[in-house]
Amino acid sequence: MKQKVLSLAEEVLAETAAVRHELHKIPELAGQEFRTAEYLRKKLEALPLEVQRPCLNTDVVALIHGKRPGPNITLRADIDGLPIQEKNPVPYRSIQEGRMHACAHDGHSAMLFGAASVLCRLRDSFPGTVRILFQPGEEMAAMAKDLIEAGAIDDPFPDFVAALHAWPGVKYGKISTREGTVMGAGGYFRLTLQSPRYFGGDLIGLAGRVIAELRKRWPEDGTLKFSRVQSGARAFSVSRKLFLEGIIGFFSDATAEKAKAGLEALLSGICGKTGVRWTLEFTMTYPAAVVPEEGARLAKQAAEKYLGKGSFLPMRKPCPRNDDFAFFLRRSKGVYCHLGMGDSRPLHDPLFDFDDRLLKTGMVFLAGLSMDFLNR
Ligand SMILES: [Zn+2]
Ligand SMILES: [Zn+2]
Repeated sequence: MKQKVLSLAEEVLAETAAVRHELHKIPELAGQEFRTAEYLRKKLEALPLEVQRPCLNTDVVALIHGKRPGPNITLRADIDGLPIQEKNPVPYRSIQEGRMHACAHDGHSAMLFGAASVLCRLRDSFPGTVRILFQPGEEMAAMAKDLIEAGAIDDPFPDFVAALHAWPGVKYGKISTREGTVMGAGGYFRLTLQSPRYFGGDLIGLAGRVIAELRKRWPEDGTLKFSRVQSGARAFSVSRKLFLEGIIGFFSDATAEKAKAGLEALLSGICGKTGVRWTLEFTMTYPAAVVPEEGARLAKQAAEKYLGKGSFLPMRKPCPRNDDFAFFLRRSKGVYCHLGMGDSRPLHDPLFDFDDRLLKTGMVFLAGLSMDFLNR
């Protein structure tokens, strides 16, 4: 099986690279991936699989049917680009002003297309189904949640879900994950302070105390960055309204809950006797992505079997960034892995570019993992 997967991947590699370059040219923002979805849909329609009707506007979902009924594995790639002006002097550079694939989603989508091409050629060798899922709006919008709620994975419900994210700073060409939290929970808070009457102090001073106390008490494994503060209009009158906003992150959903309760207690304490009213919006856009033991084990086995001994790198600690693939992992067992990009430019950098030499690594891993899961 290993040789078959490797040689089929080699066969579809040139087309996979062409898909990557085409996608790179036409980056679109979260929820607006119309050209991207149309292009991917056309590419899939040329393969022997069942392309489904979109659940939202710009998702592309298809099922590859194996030789007989059996379990389902769902492979997901994110397809959205970013509001960044590209600086790469490559022939396939972005043709959309101020839009760029700077988070490797062009690479993820191409690798998923490559894996789909390989699996279509192997469909007599596995039972069950493989769902190929191109997901819109990973960045900021976290549309995985909407897509799942719209029924994208209802029939058949997945027995396993898997996704890869190219990751600069992780050893080149390695597949890396861990049991437990892989990606942190992330979101923001929005605090409004209002004083109906003069209370002997001022809201800006009060907000200063909130900021200082929050910094002191914030959970050690959490991140907190104040992003906006707004109050007052002129030098000689005391402001009666204040907004304070911040970006927050945690390594577990439970810590997020605790931090929220702590913030509420702090606000009650500080505002208590002053008569200042506070309202707090505390939104975790991304839950933590938590991988079960079985997911991490299967990923390690597939990496070592299909890519060679030493291809798997245990992830030592959770990554402080977020991925809405967490919503899939809340519903089904599965795995989320980093694909090491070595010393490449960082993600979201105007000079970032996915490395085409990693396309084969990613698609072999996804196809191999699927074959092994369905044939267990
Ligand atoms: Zn990103
Ligand atoms: Zn990303």
